[in-house]
Amino acid sequence: MIRWMLFIPCAAFLCILYFHYLDFIFRGKANVYRINTSAALTATKKEYRNTISNLAVFALTGLLLGFFIDGGYTKVYSQTPAQLSSIIYLPASFLLALLVHDVYFYVTHRLLHLRFWFKQVHRVHHQSHTTNPWSAFSFHFAECIIQIGIVPLLAFLFPLHEIVLMLFVFFMMFITVYGHSGYELRPNKHQLFNIFNTSLHHSQHHQYVHYNFGIYLNIWDRLFASNHPGYHHSFKQLRSVVKFRKEKAKHPSYGK
Ligand SMILES: [Zn+2]
Ligand SMILES: [Zn+2]
Repeated sequence: MIRWMLFIPCAAFLCILYFHYLDFIFRGKANVYRINTSAALTATKKEYRNTISNLAVFALTGLLLGFFIDGGYTKVYSQTPAQLSSIIYLPASFLLALLVHDVYFYVTHRLLHLRFWFKQVHRVHHQSHTTNPWSAFSFHFAECIIQIGIVPLLAFLFPLHEIVLMLFVFFMMFITVYGHSGYELRPNKHQLFNIFNTSLHHSQHHQYVHYNFGIYLNIWDRLFASNHPGYHHSFKQLRSVVKFRKEKAKHPSYGK
């Protein structure tokens, strides 16, 4: 019970710390990956406050989830897989969890953008126009329940090994914070990988508000024509800018 109460908020907090100290971790070389160098990556008091209270909600959700898992009420299991099929099921169930979350996130996010829900709930998250790692979980209490609600939902939906569910939680937190980090770490990704969203994608969501709703896959935004019309062009531009900054960092006279 306690492990889940600690695990969910700690996973979220570790991801925030990672991106908060990214420049230090990258030994001062992270700035070349910045999406918008004209805006500082500093959090507001409100973002800190919202994040701390939402981490407490994550802890409470974890406590309840742990109670239901330990009581055998969910489909979460912890037995070591013995057969080949149950070993194959581990990565398969992880991918299935991501797919379910991808659809869940897109649908709930679109609903949160309906006039009423935006005004009442989602507006809080959009007060961060230029994002930083502390913007990721800076949202209204009701949105916090919706966002973290995917974890207990998955636990009741289909069989998941407890470690797989933990990996899913960590991955979900990591991608969420990355999308708000202000860094685009994969500017050189192959076009084939345009199927996945980027950090720039969610950064533009905060900038333009009514575009780019997805989390992992870019499929839903394409299917429902909700990608920002300039998204792909901006990505290519950012790629050239990052390349230029890298060269400039190596050879200070470059481009003069
Ligand atoms: Zn939104
Ligand atoms: Zn956001």
